[in-house]
Amino acid sequence: MSVKQKERPPELEQPSRQPLAGRTCLVTGGSCGIGRGIARELGRHGATVIVNYRSSEAAAHEVADVITDAETEGTAHPVQADVTNRDEVDAMREAIQDSFGPIDVLVNNAGITADCTLANMSHEDWHRVIDVSLHGSFNCTKAFYDDLATVDDGRVISISSVIGKQGNVGQANYAAAKSGLFGFTRSLALELADAGATANCIAPGFTLTEMVEAIPDEIQDDLRADIPLERFAHVSEIAGLVRYLASEESGYITGEVIDINGGLDL
Ligand code: NAP
Repeated sequence: MSVKQKERPPELEQPSRQPLAGRTCLVTGGSCGIGRGIARELGRHGATVIVNYRSSEAAAHEVADVITDAETEGTAHPVQADVTNRDEVDAMREAIQDSFGPIDVLVNNAGITADCTLANMSHEDWHRVIDVSLHGSFNCTKAFYDDLATVDDGRVISISSVIGKQGNVGQANYAAAKSGLFGFTRSLALELADAGATANCIAPGFTLTEMVEAIPDEIQDDLRADIPLERFAHVSEIAGLVRYLASEESGYITGEVIDINGGLDL
């Protein structure tokens, strides 16, 4: 049997620890919305969670406190860094390594929108959306690459969007950034494979965050009407998939773009 063919019993015994206990997970943009849900889900399953934020310090501390105060093995720690800024990302890596050692899981979640039709889109809006989602994912993955390629079961999970597949009026910048993550992920999966680490993308449809809840009711109704399941995703549904991909059990899934969109592609 080759070295890479790991021996795992077909029926696992009842775990004595929580499934993510002992794993250190960095969630970029973990202060609110989907990132907050992911951080809490990973913490709930025993992980040490690093909650990255750019400006929402109080919110990030609150997320970390909720995770640490819960009656689980999980703990959490807020860390500030703008993912578009290489120096800040490198400083974040040093701070994390000093306190926690290498990370096992990187969740590239930070993302923004700046919607505008192409005819009216400024160069600044084009660049800043791509800077956060795509360049930010590159900056963080590069900074933590050695960790992820060295630990057992390293994981990179990038949060893309259904818009990366379908495109959307007024979102050429966002669609370009999010579909860029597909090619990034597939290439990364090939490069990490030798190390037994995986890279995957999740492409959510509309998800019930503060941003989506703020959309006027009649527009929400129109959006829901196009979705076969006739509802938006719950943050917990995205977070649950991230938790699975972060775990050792997901080790044979790599280079995938996994849709969570209520059947929008059907
Ligand atoms: P959100 O509520 O606006 O949260 C965005 C998070 O990203 C915040 O924590 C924010 O931190 C952080 N962030 C923004 N710029 C950053 C930067 N330069 N450096 C570090 N952190 C930064 O967004 P969301 O709706 O939860 O979306 C999360 C991810 O899911 C995004 O990648 C988004 O594209 C994707 N997504 C969302 C939906 C949806 O319907 N909500 C659907 C598909 C995909 P600060 O507040 O500290 O700036």
